[in-house]
Amino acid sequence: MSYEHTKHNPKPFGEKSKMDFKLTPEQQEIRKAVKEFAEKEFTPELALEFDQKEEFPMALYKKAAHLGFTSMRIPEQYGGQGLGVLEDCIIVEEMCRAEPGIGVAISLGNLMIPDVLLKHGNEEQKKKYIPPLARGDKIAAAAFTEPEHGSDITRMDSTAVKCGSEWSINGAKEFITNATTADTFILLCQTDPSCQPTYRGQSIFIAEKGMPGLEATKLHGKMGIKPCVTGSLAMSDLKVPETNVIGELGRGFYYTLELFDGTRITVAAQAVGMAQGAFERALAYAKTRKQSGQPIINFQGISHKLAEMAIKIESARLMMYKAAWLYDKEKPNPAQTSMAKAYAGRVAMEVTDDAIQVFGGYGYLADYHVERYHRCAKITELYEGTSEIQKNTIVGYLMKQQ
Ligand SMILES: Cc1cc2nc3c(=O)[nH]c(=O)nc-3n(C[C@H](O)[C@H](O)[C@H](O)COP(=O)(O)OP(=O)(O)OC[C@H]3O[C@@H](n4cnc5c(N)ncnc54)[C@H](O)[C@@H]3O)c2cc1C
Repeated sequence: MSYEHTKHNPKPFGEKSKMDFKLTPEQQEIRKAVKEFAEKEFTPELALEFDQKEEFPMALYKKAAHLGFTSMRIPEQYGGQGLGVLEDCIIVEEMCRAEPGIGVAISLGNLMIPDVLLKHGNEEQKKKYIPPLARGDKIAAAAFTEPEHGSDITRMDSTAVKCGSEWSINGAKEFITNATTADTFILLCQTDPSCQPTYRGQSIFIAEKGMPGLEATKLHGKMGIKPCVTGSLAMSDLKVPETNVIGELGRGFYYTLELFDGTRITVAAQAVGMAQGAFERALAYAKTRKQSGQPIINFQGISHKLAEMAIKIESARLMMYKAAWLYDKEKPNPAQTSMAKAYAGRVAMEVTDDAIQVFGGYGYLADYHVERYHRCAKITELYEGTSEIQKNTIVGYLMKQQ
């Protein structure tokens, strides 16, 4: 519509805005159900135990999967709920609000691998690999990062070479979520090293736990999200059948970027959930902790800090929901997604830090929980592309606007 349109038109701008920020009744039901589940199951004792054990909470994962919380985006015909990324974000947000480490671990059980298969896999692959992931019977890992290629995945040192009806894969992957617990892996490999640019010679393969030549080693000593297992993978003449190529050869890099469009929004949801959880603990503490004969919330230094925390969380949440809404409308917008992820990650760091400040010295102790939220929050600025990489994406988009 041009401004000319308004000239002799008595009602030039149509109806009052129909923009709606309310979740649907179904989405509200989902939030209520997952909130109830996470608050009941992710007890403070369990949170401290798993933070020390650095172990995947398998029993809880299966329970969550049984209730449908881990298969929101998977179509019903493959055993999922047939909903969208927005519903998934509500789940992730509430789980990470209740407990950041266990929440992340459970929300990353299938790592959106079904999405790659749904978009690019064939029917046989979908039927074989998606239903066990939807049921929570199997765990997935998505391996892109390599020791020499982290932020820049345009070239992979892992190679896949065709030998008859199989592919032989050699190489190493680093920092892989679920490396030692996963049953189903997707691996990004260089299939044509002569391609220029190199990323046009990358392809994605499915591998399975127990295949000879695939070895996983657990990584210890992470700062946070300790119940979410991380490890490295070594592929040494790992043979996968030619039927395990996903989609077209040479399209792996593009499929990966497409996957990030969705996973980055769920990382923003992790960040928002962690910030909300730490904020709620700080607010409750500020109302009851007394100094100089009054609750510390009476001090403006504390009450304004809490107000600032609430402002940041609300804006990060709106950005995250908008990115999810666009994704579900099949209009993924990488810049919007990157803005949501980068901003939510920063908010999670700032808000969890402020929460420790509100608790004073007690905030520095594990038993008061907010230090764990802060340790866990850092990951949201690192994986699925660091905040710097998100900004590169945003700048790329801004340059195109000129
Ligand atoms: C707990 C955990 C779980 C993970 N899970 C997975 C997983 O499941 N699968 C997987 O494939 N990967 C996973 N990763 C890897 C993660 O995605 C990478 O760590 C991340 O992409 C950064 O790569 P890097 O660590 O090699 O850092 P580098 O790429 O070496 O970056 C170092 C620094 O340089 C900056 N930098 C690099 N390039 C640029 C640039 N072009 N412009 C501006 N700044 C730049 C980075 O932002 C960073 O600050 C995980 C990592 C962790 C810590």
